[in-house]
Amino acid sequence: MSIRRLLTAAAALATVVVIAAALGLDIDVRIATANAGDGPEEWSPTAPFPQREVYYPGTEALADDEMRVTACGTGMPQPRLKQAAACFLVELGNGDKFIFDMGAGSAERLAALGIPLDQLNRVFLGHLHIDHAGDFPAFYFTGPVNNRLTPMRVWGPSGVRPEWGTKVWVEKMLEMWAWEKAGRGSAVDPRGLELEVNEFDWTAVNAVIYQENGVTIRTLPAIHLDQSVSFVLEWKGLRFAFSSDTLPNKWWRAYTNDVDLAIHECFIPPDYMMARYGMTPSEAVYVGTQGHTAAQAFGKIMSLTKPRHAVCYHFQNDFDTAPAVLSEIRKTYDGPLDLAQDFMVWNVTKKHIRTRMGVPNHESYPAPPQRVKYPPDSMKAYKWTQFSLSGVEPESAAVTNKLIEEFNKRNGTDIKPGITGLPFRDEQ
Ligand SMILES: [Zn+2]
Ligand SMILES: [Zn+2]
Repeated sequence: MSIRRLLTAAAALATVVVIAAALGLDIDVRIATANAGDGPEEWSPTAPFPQREVYYPGTEALADDEMRVTACGTGMPQPRLKQAAACFLVELGNGDKFIFDMGAGSAERLAALGIPLDQLNRVFLGHLHIDHAGDFPAFYFTGPVNNRLTPMRVWGPSGVRPEWGTKVWVEKMLEMWAWEKAGRGSAVDPRGLELEVNEFDWTAVNAVIYQENGVTIRTLPAIHLDQSVSFVLEWKGLRFAFSSDTLPNKWWRAYTNDVDLAIHECFIPPDYMMARYGMTPSEAVYVGTQGHTAAQAFGKIMSLTKPRHAVCYHFQNDFDTAPAVLSEIRKTYDGPLDLAQDFMVWNVTKKHIRTRMGVPNHESYPAPPQRVKYPPDSMKAYKWTQFSLSGVEPESAAVTNKLIEEFNKRNGTDIKPGITGLPFRDEQ
């Protein structure tokens, strides 16, 4: 660019910025530059070029009136690399974060966002199917080794029978993983394994189940083999509705009108389920239209409730299924719509709703601890049997002990080998 052109461009840009400032407009200077009428501009080879249509987790602060929703699972019970089972993360401008459903495979999606686990300790389960709750045990039990130092809190529905409800489900989970908790659980800061269970009446209609820090979450009954619920979160005038699994129902219709973001399940047509899953015709029709919401029925309930933005999930969203689902929905709904995929992200304010795809970190490590760690004495916390202790191979143990000695020298520590130091250690 010649000096004269540069000066002209600078003058044009200055004019735009001054006019914008006078009008109180928040104009992006880079866009103003591009539109200054002085031809295309070559981008600096050293300045970052803004990738506007993707979201890089961990790079954007939320405005204090903004909600960000990230799809961490949009698929089915059938495992696949592309889509984990149901899970949506809601982050609010006040710093609060909420996980809705935690289907199998979703914990790794959450981890890929790089959020400290102390900030991810509120989980709301719409029902206790594996594809909506299957990763909760993994997320809970591995929390402390991923630096969670605050108690986990979980909300879920009661059961038609008490033993089918969330409270007993959690009790049995703890029993089932008793050895995990006794062994690995004894080698970590115990605070991360504290657990608060909040079971609520699955038939309650629009009842408040959470109210803290300006955030209200209500439950709606869902029609999905009983004891299933949907949720509506409200904060600063923004409303987010999540169906979990349900047929379109009268409670959703009555209480989700005009929500800002409605995420509702929706299935591929039964013909696809026969072809792809090997289902019989009656299986496909039952699962695809009675146990779940058919795409046309999804469109209908969205037309009736008119969310600002509708999102359908719970199907394999591929090059061939997406057009089929879309054309079915468009027979009954012509409003704003996304067909969810894992890592789709919605930024919601009163003014705008923006959809982008997130770019997750495939090689994530846990975020650092948010509080001072107090690890227990893991060498003594778990009582090893004499059988295992007697099996340590002595020459390899000597190598390991030397390694610990060198570690101590490097780090100024005084850690004693526990198991490999057996020949020299005190009797427990
Ligand atoms: Zn289900
Ligand atoms: Zn499901």
